[in-house]
Amino acid sequence: RFQGQKRAVIQDDGWRELPVGERLQHALIHGNGDHVEDDTREALAELQQPLKVIEGPLMDGMNVVGDLFGSGKMFLPQVIRSARVMKQAVRVLEPALLAARAEGRNQGKVLLATVKGDVHDIGKNIVGVVLGCNNYEVIDLGVMVSVDRILDAAREHAVDVIGLSGLITPSLDEMVHVAGRMQQEGLRTPLLIGGATTSRVHTAVRIDPRYDAAVVHVVDASRAPGVVGKLLDPAASAGFVAETKQAYAEARERREREQATRELVPLDQARAAALVTDWASYTPPRPRVPGLTVIPDRPLAKLRPFIDWTPFFITWQLKGKFPGILDHPRYGGEARRLYQEAQQLLDRLEVDGTVQARGVAGLWPAARRGDDLVIYTDESRTEIRTVVHHLRRQRAEAKTGVCPGLADLVAPEDRGIEDWVGGFAVSGGFGADELAARFEAAGDDYQAILVKAIADRLAEAFAERLHWQVRHELWGYEPDPEPDNEQLIAETYRGIRPAPGYPACPDHTEKPALFDLLEARERLGVTLTESCMMVPGASVSGWYFSHPEARYFGIGRIGRDQVIDYAGRKGWDLATAERWLAPILGYEPAADTA
Ligand code: SAH
Repeated sequence: RFQGQKRAVIQDDGWRELPVGERLQHALIHGNGDHVEDDTREALAELQQPLKVIEGPLMDGMNVVGDLFGSGKMFLPQVIRSARVMKQAVRVLEPALLAARAEGRNQGKVLLATVKGDVHDIGKNIVGVVLGCNNYEVIDLGVMVSVDRILDAAREHAVDVIGLSGLITPSLDEMVHVAGRMQQEGLRTPLLIGGATTSRVHTAVRIDPRYDAAVVHVVDASRAPGVVGKLLDPAASAGFVAETKQAYAEARERREREQATRELVPLDQARAAALVTDWASYTPPRPRVPGLTVIPDRPLAKLRPFIDWTPFFITWQLKGKFPGILDHPRYGGEARRLYQEAQQLLDRLEVDGTVQARGVAGLWPAARRGDDLVIYTDESRTEIRTVVHHLRRQRAEAKTGVCPGLADLVAPEDRGIEDWVGGFAVSGGFGADELAARFEAAGDDYQAILVKAIADRLAEAFAERLHWQVRHELWGYEPDPEPDNEQLIAETYRGIRPAPGYPACPDHTEKPALFDLLEARERLGVTLTESCMMVPGASVSGWYFSHPEARYFGIGRIGRDQVIDYAGRKGWDLATAERWLAPILGYEPAADTA
């Protein structure tokens, strides 16, 4: 083992003999910050002017990084490490830069913001780093940014491009709103749209028509520099914008044609095609531990074995199933390094306590009432504590002919069957945002992204682990021995834990009811933003259904009849219902007020 290390050291040191400019380039390309500060000082002594160091060896190095990334020869974790080295170098130069009163020349200024109500920002931060690597100046306003702050900052910094990010569906509406305000106030700044729930179709149908200037949906971080480059290139911009507008207009027409041919089943007919119809021979299991079970501090070491690593690599844009991905012919090496660093971080977090996991599960007596669930105060089932609202699919599933709704999984109230429903909320991220912020302040976006990605993984691992505990112990209907992690990830067990905002229950506004039932704010300190997004961001919540036929499905698009019915059940007016349900409306709302 020792010999191996020695060889590595010799190899490593070879590049130290190169001229300083090449050493800087090497450091950037390899993401190696060990000597970069000394080398930057040396380069400054040699070139005299800090700007010459930036525009010379540093930019040359970053250009190579950009090219390699652009051509698929380098991967996101490497790029983010390179950006960290670049920041280290620029920090060394900063005093001299300020003294020279010189402004670092850049390709253009890009404002980035996660919209109001939304707190997830891994993707936005990655876009920022990638743009920074391509010599754009990035003004990152962070998360939960109101439209006014976006517009003010855009003017104050005279930015060239505005990029909006969002993770959850209500953010789509907020983006429509921002685009509308940009139009109203006469802006012409190109608008980029990105983030998990955004799509080309949504951008084309809802956002693009609101804003006369450029609107472009950016599918992933690696596309951002190309798009911004085209938008800011005087020779290419007009053509690119016209082309995009044209493509979006076509997408809108296609969408309209689809909409016209999409047959939605009337609501009463859909209700007749429920998922579970035979209650005669069914006895629901009674929980062994009804009510709330709070886990005030789950040791991270206990969650770690249940992490599903595949989505972790997706966050870093390395796609492939774990553990096979560690031997991927092209990026296996990168995946392994990333995995190792994640393990080191977890080792640290396990002992230092900066990040905590807390959770709560609840099991309550319940019954189906139409498409909703009534939840009783106690087992006498005489008093209703709350009504939980669910939606129903209005297009028969091709495979089953069924129009499912989650309420179908609970026995109807007039059957005299004592059924139950559950819920949970967990967070793997108390302290994670603060820790990530400390890394960001120190110029280490790489570790910041790593912390957030790990906190997300811990939350999901907690959800998986808690679900097992519920099935096995608290609800106790699954007597089998503990499954291994692979079986858990495949979710082949009896029962589901659908999450509000996901396809089977796409309405985020049921989260406040879930959180009330769970006393999640009081007992865990997990809160909800005005868009019903959970804070801390690394949190997961959902309902538990135990029926043997429980499975995941998608509500898909719904008709006006259901929206009216649902609005009535929720005590909403139609416009409010159409706003919250905008992503799943199967029709154009009469007066689009967004
Ligand atoms: N092992 C994965 C688990 C998360 S994705 C990870 O670590 O990331 C799977 C979860 O998403 C499910 O457990 C459920 O909570 C949610 N989900 C998936 N499909 C859904 C649907 N159609 N409706 C509601 N929730 C769904």
